[in-house]
Amino acid sequence: MPEISATLAAIAVAAAMFAVFVLALRLRRARREFQEEVRSWKSRLAEDLKRARHERDGLLNALAEAFLMVDASGSIRFANQSAIRMFGGRQLLDRSVPEVMLDHNLASAVLDCLHTGLPVSRRIVLQNSPSPSESRPSVVFDLDAAPLPDPVGGDPSIRVVIRNVSAEHHTEQVRKDFVANASHELRTPLAIINGYLENLIDDDLIEDPAMARRFLTIMRKHTERIARIVEDMLVISRLESGEAAALKIEPFRMRSCFQDVLERLESVIQGQEAKVSLEMPDPELNFCGDRFYWTQVLFNLVENALKQNPRKGLNISLGCQRKDDALMLWVADDGVGIPSQDLPHIFRRFYRVEKHHSQDQIKGTGLGLSIVKRAVEAHGGTIQVSSTPGEDTRFTIRIPAQAEESLKSMVVPDPMPLNVPA
Ligand code: ATP
Ligand code: MG
Repeated sequence: MPEISATLAAIAVAAAMFAVFVLALRLRRARREFQEEVRSWKSRLAEDLKRARHERDGLLNALAEAFLMVDASGSIRFANQSAIRMFGGRQLLDRSVPEVMLDHNLASAVLDCLHTGLPVSRRIVLQNSPSPSESRPSVVFDLDAAPLPDPVGGDPSIRVVIRNVSAEHHTEQVRKDFVANASHELRTPLAIINGYLENLIDDDLIEDPAMARRFLTIMRKHTERIARIVEDMLVISRLESGEAAALKIEPFRMRSCFQDVLERLESVIQGQEAKVSLEMPDPELNFCGDRFYWTQVLFNLVENALKQNPRKGLNISLGCQRKDDALMLWVADDGVGIPSQDLPHIFRRFYRVEKHHSQDQIKGTGLGLSIVKRAVEAHGGTIQVSSTPGEDTRFTIRIPAQAEESLKSMVVPDPMPLNVPA
């Protein structure tokens, strides 16, 4: 009997050991499976995180504005491609704000937001001139910094958006200057007219017909000037509107345009005994454009040459020729010329060379060349000026063949005659 119980006990022990062994095996497998699952979750999470980061970077890099993230210590944690470009490709990550933003105003706007925890919006103008004599257009930024709503890990960080608004700023400035210049130019003749009116009325000069006539003649000259300024400003704003309807494109002979201008200025040309030579290898040369503006362009250029050189015997040479892949037009004279320091400004509205004697008398509005430039540009061309005083002052207009082609496609068709049978 004792043998039987010993055998049974041994069997029970063996069975128990087997059961433990099986259990351990299962446990090992379960642990392996669990580890496998954790690993796969981890790698899926890492993959998702990578994709999310990639998408975020893609979106932020697609922004035209510079986007930066700055942590509580003032170090840059993220910078998109526009930011890298804006800061000249410099290393931005993990560098401090003042180290990256060399301009004090830019850096302090970011640091103000960081220190106060309040949003900051500022327009910052960087003066871009290396020396006072050389004036370059300034670079203007709109900076917008704000704390991020949910700081990760409790550390407050901020986001900074910087937009280059130099072009808008410049346009705004030009508009302001235009209004200021226009009011100044209008105020002068108005003040003169007012002065004469006061004399006529208050000092009873109206009773003296000779004096009254003299005053009225002067006043008429000034009202004519006001009318011209207003008319010129309307022409400029029409040309600047960029509307296709601003131009009436039609084919015309360039020669007839030159001839019209010379006829209109004939009495001045004769009075000044100026010699005018017209060079046009192809007298039949046809052009598609707004004839009205081309007459104005040529008229102003020839009139300027005559007006600035009242001395006798001025030589003026005009011409028009197709060359390479463009149409070239030029107006040149051998008069007083334009000082080199004035050349870059000559196409600005109301700009007149101060030293020119003719500016003492009321003659021009200083809007002529600015109309010329805008009219040429509206036709897809460019205008350049060069001047060697006393020898050659030359305005050269270039209309690329490509621009001429697109002008041809804009020709306004003749209205259909009303009583033509279908
Ligand atoms: P407006 O044309 O409106 O009657 P303006 O002739 O004074 O006035 P612009 O045609 O714009 O104005 O010319 C601007 C300035 O450029 C002139 O005042 C003159 O000082 C200078 N200028 C233009 N053409 C010549 C030239 N051929 N020779 C010398 N100076 C010139
Ligand atoms: Mg002029």
